[in-house]
Amino acid sequence: MANFEYSPAHPFKPVRARLTMDLCRRYGLIERPWIRIVKPEPLGYETLVDFHDPAYLKIMRDLDSAAVASELWPDMIRSGGSDFLTVDPKILRFGLGTEDNPIFSGMYDYAALAAGATFLGARMLAGGEAQAAFNPLGGFHHAGRDHAEGFCYLNDVAIAINHLLKQGLRIAFVDIDAHHCNGVQDAYYRDPRVLVVSFHENGKDLYPWSGFENEIGEGEGRGYNVNFPLPQNTDDDAFIRAFSEVVPPLLNAYSPDLVVAELGADTHISDPLTHLSMTNMGYCEAVKKLKDLSPRILALGGGGYDVFKTARSWTLAWGILNDLEPRDEYVGLVGGMMFGPEMEVGSLQDKTVYMKGATREKVNREVDRVLGYIRENVFPIHKIRV
Ligand SMILES: [Zn+2]
Repeated sequence: MANFEYSPAHPFKPVRARLTMDLCRRYGLIERPWIRIVKPEPLGYETLVDFHDPAYLKIMRDLDSAAVASELWPDMIRSGGSDFLTVDPKILRFGLGTEDNPIFSGMYDYAALAAGATFLGARMLAGGEAQAAFNPLGGFHHAGRDHAEGFCYLNDVAIAINHLLKQGLRIAFVDIDAHHCNGVQDAYYRDPRVLVVSFHENGKDLYPWSGFENEIGEGEGRGYNVNFPLPQNTDDDAFIRAFSEVVPPLLNAYSPDLVVAELGADTHISDPLTHLSMTNMGYCEAVKKLKDLSPRILALGGGGYDVFKTARSWTLAWGILNDLEPRDEYVGLVGGMMFGPEMEVGSLQDKTVYMKGATREKVNREVDRVLGYIRENVFPIHKIRV
């Protein structure tokens, strides 16, 4: 899967998943008797169509054949998707052939394989074969029923959750990616069988321009969709305060059988696409809390556009899910494996960055405001008393 590429200049790099595995291996987080690497199969049409629109799947599948695509849309293929003016409007309607979601050779297989990995994790957890599963190349939370967007083609999250619901399980989806999970929110907005909780950079400042605190679900689903938009410059301190005040009470009240966790690492201060100021220390604290609150956990990678920082965050997350302290097994080896952030290793952990002065006050005021809204409007639905 790591060999797929959207286009050379595209910020989404599937290779992050392989770097994560390399780093996990180096830090002694894979060769353990209870850990297995399982090989996924691409998810079949019959399962994909459980969530996705047949016409959308068909057009994706047709476009996947590089031969067909390059014959019909030679400019598309040559430019790797940036020249979307040449694309047939019939295709653009499905969100395909845009700069974010270029048509590339193997696109359908790639998305079906990523969805297959998440699905396999869900099946293993539901069947009691595993306590925790991690698909770094999963968590395509922006994909809609009938369209691609935000680097996402197939919504592996909703496909897997639909399967888990069929097993009669009660599901919570907790998303700490820097982007709002609009595709997942839309899928369960009126459905109380899935509690959706998302922390993300404010939709005023960042794609997908949604995920405000007043989007709390509708009908029977009212109160089962919780958004915590974070202001720019949110640091570890502010994020952890928001997370700790919201997630434990909600998960304790809702009491899910299984938690699906989107562990996007694009909240990092060095991420080129977002404007938050977190380090992997705040990230890890959230992952730890989440793990402790989850009877079973399906972890998904999501975003992360500083490739090496992302691999480090995910490696730390995998350690946490296994109660393992990462230990550099190559330390002192001359000519050992070269790895991007080598200069800073020793430890995988960042040093926390603290916002100061007016920035800090502004962030805290906004976090307090959103917290107040959730306590007032969401907590009572779950009979949570503050
Ligand atoms: Zn993201």
